[in-house]
Amino acid sequence: MKSILADNIVAISTPPGKGAIGIVRLSGPHAIRIAGFLLGGGAGKPLDARATHTLQRAQLAHDGVYLDDALVAVMKSPRSYTGEDMVEFHCHGNPLVLAGVVGACLKEGARGALPGEFTRRAFLNGKIDLSQAEAVAGIIEASSGRALELSMRQAGGELSRRVARLMAGLLDIRAEIEARLEFPEEEIEDDSGEGHSFALLRAAVECRALITAQTEGMRIRDGVRVAIIGKPNAGKSSIFNRLLRAERAIVTPEKGTTRDSIEETVMLDGMAVTLVDTAGICRDHGDEAGKAGVARSMAAVDLADFLLFIADASVPWSGEDHEITARSKGKRGLLVLNKADLPRRMELEDRPGELSAWKALWVSAMRGDGIEDIKKYIIGYNNTLYGESAEESAIVCSAQQSDALHRCDDGIQSALELSKQGGQEELVSMELKKALDALEAITGENADEELLDRIFSRFCIGK
Ligand code: GDP
Repeated sequence: MKSILADNIVAISTPPGKGAIGIVRLSGPHAIRIAGFLLGGGAGKPLDARATHTLQRAQLAHDGVYLDDALVAVMKSPRSYTGEDMVEFHCHGNPLVLAGVVGACLKEGARGALPGEFTRRAFLNGKIDLSQAEAVAGIIEASSGRALELSMRQAGGELSRRVARLMAGLLDIRAEIEARLEFPEEEIEDDSGEGHSFALLRAAVECRALITAQTEGMRIRDGVRVAIIGKPNAGKSSIFNRLLRAERAIVTPEKGTTRDSIEETVMLDGMAVTLVDTAGICRDHGDEAGKAGVARSMAAVDLADFLLFIADASVPWSGEDHEITARSKGKRGLLVLNKADLPRRMELEDRPGELSAWKALWVSAMRGDGIEDIKKYIIGYNNTLYGESAEESAIVCSAQQSDALHRCDDGIQSALELSKQGGQEELVSMELKKALDALEAITGENADEELLDRIFSRFCIGK
């Protein structure tokens, strides 16, 4: 079967639409020869005679049709992004111009690149491992400064290094066990098993640290979810709008009109915060649409990292307030006593027990009083979550990688359990093998085509 690396691939690598420049990328064993067909005469040295990593201005043409006045960059294998010979055409940023250049390359034998194929080649040619490839996707997708920082660090190989260290530790333990099984008569140091159980404990701690780091990473990448809850008419939508500074949710004076959970993401202090405005969580939800809304609200509470409980301070606490707060047990949050512009009929001391540990703020969504304090509190909460050290050790993972870390943890925990019981070395070794196999899925050793397809199909074409 012909290797896909034998093909020459071409794609527009800049975003769709018009711009000052647009870049067409070409990669493969014959990339330089194919590009040569577009350069015609008068371009100076032929491309293949040029030094790598040089830029040349050229009039591009093909089949007698003028294409563009462009800059042509040549990067020779192995010193290129993909590890193959690569040519980049820096053209005028008009989609028609770029399509013309791509079309000419196709006629000369290149084929259109699949999504993420340039990065996939970088992986197949050993330029980066899978976790670095994931980080490249993260750099492109990052929607906040912190998420970007995180992905950039990881593109440098941070996760790979930590996984490699864990793997090395596990391999050592396995080697020791296997040696003992194979040569039982030999005097291998520490045959009480104490030695490897200590190493095993260390591996267990490191694996758990990786899992914590990836949870932090996920929060940084996806941001914090804040659910705005409270009974109908308390002012949830008004506060949601104030926090967004836009009239996104529909504010109505009637009870229970915000049927659906609406969510929007805002940037607070470089961190993405997703605000979820829930439907009124109440007992008399009536019709089917209302019930569906309540179900969604409950899901929003469960998924949220942080809750904003909105109470209408112009009426006394009610059973509904108690019912809703019962569902927020164990979560962290802020109690917002809204409508502070109206005469107060709510006493803080009477608040539901679940809210007693939360800070309370008097706010008027109508006037805008206290809204900045809510923002500050959410930022403060973020910062306690992401202390500097947590942020430094955080890693981003795909769902598969996170799953692999958990499988590794399962293997290590079983191995620990078995080795405590003693005398089951073979089984310990098998569990360690499971843990090691799981880690291989993170760096991409022995990754199968299907897995690679899944990963790289998320990328855009031209990356
Ligand atoms: P939700 O059902 O909890 O989403 O509540 P809404 O945001 O739709 O607000 C319900 C009603 O309370 C609307 O008529 C708002 O104008 C009013 N309201 C919201 N916040 C305040 C406030 O701070 N002061 C006063 N006086 N009215 C408010």
